[in-house]
Amino acid sequence: MRVRYALPDGFDYPEEAKKQNFVVCPVCKKGNVKKDLDKTNIYTCDFCSAKLKNVGPQYLLSTEDCITEYKNFKYDDYKFSIFEWNTIALSGKTLRENTLELFRKGKIPHIDNPLTSIGVALKQDEYLCWLEKSNLYEPRSERTYAGGSRGVSFRVAKGVSFRAGGFRGHSESHEAIKLIDTGNLILTNKRLIFIGQKRNANIEIKRILNTTFYKDSFKIDLESRQRPQLFSVSDSEFWEALLSGAIKSFNGN
Ligand SMILES: [Zn+2]
Repeated sequence: MRVRYALPDGFDYPEEAKKQNFVVCPVCKKGNVKKDLDKTNIYTCDFCSAKLKNVGPQYLLSTEDCITEYKNFKYDDYKFSIFEWNTIALSGKTLRENTLELFRKGKIPHIDNPLTSIGVALKQDEYLCWLEKSNLYEPRSERTYAGGSRGVSFRVAKGVSFRAGGFRGHSESHEAIKLIDTGNLILTNKRLIFIGQKRNANIEIKRILNTTFYKDSFKIDLESRQRPQLFSVSDSEFWEALLSGAIKSFNGN
């Protein structure tokens, strides 16, 4: 099965959700949501009494007046577009949640665009799944001097210290994360590829030993490579779903 390709914030809603009215109440999935006659920006469900307040192009949900059994609705106090509310009404989840769930099941995007413009030749039966700008980082031992440390260190996420396996620790040195290069990070059904200005990485999915996800990046450990590589990404959760799906479905290739 192919999942329609779009940018992380631009995946397309299901056709039946793309309506200018509420198809059914997103809270109870039973009632109709209609505009209140006396209030121009409030919409109320005629079954559970959930209210959706129109704020700009979005609608803010309040279950305050709901009948009791719907008061703990997951998306209470959320602000979404009408397409998103209709998606929740029809599937129980947001478009993003549905998309990431499909990824994790191995149904990851299939993009037909050739990569020739950035210098990647795909192999037979190989196709593009995702591409975005990224930075490559690697841990490097560095000595610390009284005046401070040399080089640029990269803080992965608050409270996360990046420690690579296989390093001999010396009391006077530590590992810092160094920016190696800037380029494009590409996922295909067979490989994770980084094309930088001076450095490339070509990682076969089946060689990936371990992945670790941080707030704004992820780390790849390989069977054959002592030094892990770290890639910055715009949406770490998106990549976590994408890579876990890729590893699950393409490991045998
Ligand atoms: Zn309702």
